[in-house]
Amino acid sequence: MSAITAIKRAQDICDLAPGYIRAIAPYEPGKPIAELARELGLDPNSIIKLASNENPLGVSPLAMQAMQQALADIARYPDGNGFELKHALSRRYAVDASQIVLGNGSNDVLELAARAFLTPGVEAIYSQHAFAVYPLVTQAAGAAGIEVPARDFAHDLEAMLQAITLRTRLAFLANPNNPTGTLMRSADLLAFLLAVPPSVVVVLDEAYNEYLPDDLKADSIGWLTEFPNLIITRTFSKAYGLAGLRVGYAFAHAGVADLMNRVRQPFNVNSVSLAAATAGLDDREFVRRGFELNQSGMRRITQGLAQLGLTYIPSFGNFVSFKVMDAAGVFQRLLKHGVIVRPIASYGMPDYLRVSIGLESENERFLEALRQSLFA
Ligand SMILES: *Cc1c(COP(=O)(O)O)cnc(C)c1O
Repeated sequence: MSAITAIKRAQDICDLAPGYIRAIAPYEPGKPIAELARELGLDPNSIIKLASNENPLGVSPLAMQAMQQALADIARYPDGNGFELKHALSRRYAVDASQIVLGNGSNDVLELAARAFLTPGVEAIYSQHAFAVYPLVTQAAGAAGIEVPARDFAHDLEAMLQAITLRTRLAFLANPNNPTGTLMRSADLLAFLLAVPPSVVVVLDEAYNEYLPDDLKADSIGWLTEFPNLIITRTFSKAYGLAGLRVGYAFAHAGVADLMNRVRQPFNVNSVSLAAATAGLDDREFVRRGFELNQSGMRRITQGLAQLGLTYIPSFGNFVSFKVMDAAGVFQRLLKHGVIVRPIASYGMPDYLRVSIGLESENERFLEALRQSLFA
């Protein structure tokens, strides 16, 4: 049978897509406020969303101003090379602009790493309970995803090393990890990089880096000179409060950055986002306030969880996952109180819920709603 005949005989056009595409389980985002408002007939203003690790302070005023100015020019294509933002990142982090890849969120740069290095027949490794995007981008590239069992919800770097084969091209590490909030020690990460074969690209996802106290931040950028197989990814979605705009970036060896830039869309970051991120990067005061709010909010929420007799996984991000009987039921009852958190059954954690640290008032409302939902 000719290929044309085979195509004509296909029952369903979707059967023609590769099996690995048809098998992709879609990403489950946090429930939007507007959706819950529609479903329960609630006033959107009465709902609090602590489900997507967004910034409770909103947007940096400097970024807001830059966005408004950029709007005047949206008839023009953006700068496809992101000169200004790369220049600002280059100055801040002392990396050459040729080592930077910009993305439509760091999700995009994670996908660019997968597209640059993965094909059917090769493998990517990542930890159990790690960020859901790693298996997604691996599968979309047709590669095999190897999930390595976690240890106490944290990446087991020893086991990850053991999982490397001749087919391994990428290893994804999240530090801190989402949804567990666990952090790898800098010395352990460095030992991992030294032990990994140079033919394996290590993607170190530091989406929550800005929420770490300085003494816990790894000198990951400093490692780039020594490890041409290292890609560091970061984002403007969390500490910079620009989740809706979608801006992320990677630092890598210039050759690796060049490959990633070849597979991206020519204008993958829009002009408003470029302007906002460039201005937001300079708003150190905004990031500092967010850091401090997160520290005190984390103390309050974990203390409140403990008072309710709940166990939680100590977290280094802007969220914390806690264990609860009937997590699905508690999630639903919290929704009725207008509080959206995140069920994480799809991360292999059906007995846990994840809550993002909010404003003081939001944290209090969450704890009170949780108290009522537990003993309902
Ligand atoms: C939120 C998050 C990201 C960032 O996603 P964006 O696409 O930049 O919004 C990346 N990695 C992890 C682990 C995250 O939790």
